[in-house]
Amino acid sequence: MDYDAVIIGGGACGLMCAVQAGLLGKRTLVLERNDKPGAKILISGGGRCNFTNLYTAPENFLTENPHFLHTAFSQWTVEDTISFFENFGGIQGQEKTLGQLFPKSNKAKDVVAVFTKLMYDTGQDIWLQTEVKSVKKQGEGYAVSFIREGDEQQLFCKKIVFASGGLPVAKLGASDFALKSARQFGLSIMDTAPALVPLTITGKDATWYASLAGNSVFARVYNDRISFEENILFTHWGLSGPAVLQISSYWRAGETFTIDLLPKFRLDELIKNERTAGGKRTIGQLLNDYFTKKMVEALEKYLPIDLKIASLSKADARFVCDTIHKFVVKPAGDKGYDKAEVMRGGVSTDELNPRTLEAKKQLGLYFGGEAVDITGWLGGYNFQWAWASGYLIAQDL
Ligand SMILES: Cc1cc2nc3c(=O)[nH]c(=O)nc-3n(C[C@H](O)[C@H](O)[C@H](O)COP(=O)(O)OP(=O)(O)OC[C@H]3O[C@@H](n4cnc5c(N)ncnc54)[C@H](O)[C@@H]3O)c2cc1C
Repeated sequence: MDYDAVIIGGGACGLMCAVQAGLLGKRTLVLERNDKPGAKILISGGGRCNFTNLYTAPENFLTENPHFLHTAFSQWTVEDTISFFENFGGIQGQEKTLGQLFPKSNKAKDVVAVFTKLMYDTGQDIWLQTEVKSVKKQGEGYAVSFIREGDEQQLFCKKIVFASGGLPVAKLGASDFALKSARQFGLSIMDTAPALVPLTITGKDATWYASLAGNSVFARVYNDRISFEENILFTHWGLSGPAVLQISSYWRAGETFTIDLLPKFRLDELIKNERTAGGKRTIGQLLNDYFTKKMVEALEKYLPIDLKIASLSKADARFVCDTIHKFVVKPAGDKGYDKAEVMRGGVSTDELNPRTLEAKKQLGLYFGGEAVDITGWLGGYNFQWAWASGYLIAQDL
């Protein structure tokens, strides 16, 4: 067997890398521990796969070194992703919201099908149910040990691509293999943690959040690093929904963040207008114009909702406004890797050549996708990075 590269992991990055190498006339072998390729692609975006974001820019990523992304994203752009799926799979993108592109068919399996067909057409091999156990330096290249059909086997290759992803969702095949191997080769790793993950509330406020389970509110969620305007969702154990998933990537244990529950309006202005009109309505009646009945009932815990607006003191009015616009949340923790969409941290970008993603101190080893310290926002950014990194690596194999 004479392969230009062995690719560990048949997920978003590994599949893109294999087919791009194939389009350049190279031969690769993908080793994938699952019984099918692209397990995460298949369940992504609720089975619809949010495969890129029209507004992708380095600012939409958490990483120690945002400059690193300029090179990758100038070589493989959002337009490249769109035309790749259009040209090779007839997939038309459809924007749902905030630049998030999904296949018009709404079927993630159409995205995976593009790769399986191209793998076949370009003669790339994929061995499923094959778990890589170790990669060791051997002469001019590397010995890859893996378990296939119950047997421990080995093969040798000059170039190895670590596209085995990050830690979230073990049942979809996630492993620490890329991180473990990077460490073994002396590469530094930025601290890892679940990201795009629901947050939990415990203690005295827990029942209040649980009483609102299932309620969704459009909000601005912010801390001193970042701000997001999307829905939040109350759950039996705390908070979820797009805005909370987004802020979770920027939240650290022990910190608070703030929610503006009415970001499109200024409550002080609304109260002023009510006063001008006589102030006969109560705070609850005013809030009913903007929130569900359930939410207003729950807000009674914090606000004098039965008080007439005319009788609100200035201090009361300020308190009401602050509660709605500056609602402080102190999560107890997060729901962990089983519920996280991505992993924060990973192989340090300092260790990799930005043009090829080859390890600077271990030539022949490449790292792409989620294994690298590049974590996208919610909304198709993570796949854009996975495709771009797969493409970049393929050029150098
Ligand atoms: C529920 C969910 C929904 C998501 N939805 C979206 C979305 O809509 N849009 C978006 O942009 N991002 C989404 N993401 C994030 C996105 O799926 C990942 O960022 C992306 O898949 C990372 O690509 P990757 O190739 O690095 O890793 P993966 O796609 O995870 O692929 C890694 C592969 O390596 C295999 N592997 C691991 N260890 C070994 C080993 N030792 N030997 C052999 N194989 C191994 C795994 O089985 C896996 O198939 C979602 C994630 C989750 C969990």
